[in-house]
Amino acid sequence: MAYRYFSAEKLPADESAYPVSVLLDGEEAHHLIHVMRVKAGEALILFDGSGAEFDTVISSVRKKELAAEIRSRRIENRESVRDVILAVALPKGERQRWLIEKLVELGAAEFMPLEAERSVAKAGEAAAARMNRVVIEASKQCGRNTLMKLQEAKTSKAIFSRSFSEAPENAEILKVIAHPGGQSLAELLAATENQGKKLLAAIGPEGGFSESEAENALNSGWIPVSLGKRILRTETAAMMVCAIAAD
Ligand code: SAH
Repeated sequence: MAYRYFSAEKLPADESAYPVSVLLDGEEAHHLIHVMRVKAGEALILFDGSGAEFDTVISSVRKKELAAEIRSRRIENRESVRDVILAVALPKGERQRWLIEKLVELGAAEFMPLEAERSVAKAGEAAAARMNRVVIEASKQCGRNTLMKLQEAKTSKAIFSRSFSEAPENAEILKVIAHPGGQSLAELLAATENQGKKLLAAIGPEGGFSESEAENALNSGWIPVSLGKRILRTETAAMMVCAIAAD
């Protein structure tokens, strides 16, 4: 099977101009050249996050860059039917990497680091860069041609406020807070009035949401949902939401 690699630069979409040559450099090129040791003449599939996949043939390999000729392009949609946005209090280290990888595989459309009262990890620039890399790696592996969007971090105070809930861009979204004791997420999503609605789910840190966070959420129209009888770790809870809601 041909290798699948990501081009950070948008690739030419005008098929009437094909075959067209493109240059790959940076980390992706480095990996192809020095780890996979590709040679001219080999097939390479590229994607640029636009939803399309490009069949190319490598035409030349240099030390830090390689050229490939695009032969054809096709839209290959492997996105979930329902848009699922996860707002999650970031876990630390390996768990964070794992969380992002699994959410990409499970088809989450967007990810928002959530700064909750009991959050343990900072959602700074270093975390964003790391997560971005994981999104690309996971997309290469699982065949997604659209990248899970990494949003800027938001505080629980901001998202559990009325002004957030009532903002025109959020008003139509189904907003749920994962909180033990809520209603079943699967049942909520199956209700006729919720078919096809975008879902935004908030998942708390290991210490859980505080009482005031939960109260603010409920007062702002967030629906508490249960993920079952057992207490799940943050990353398991996020995956569970995605497994139930995305397909
Ligand atoms: N110590 C906390 C549990 C935190 S688990 C407590 O006892 O409340 C981390 C997060 O995962 C929670 O904040 C919640 O958002 C989510 N979560 C874990 N298990 C869940 C369940 N069974 N139902 C709903 N949400 C759950």
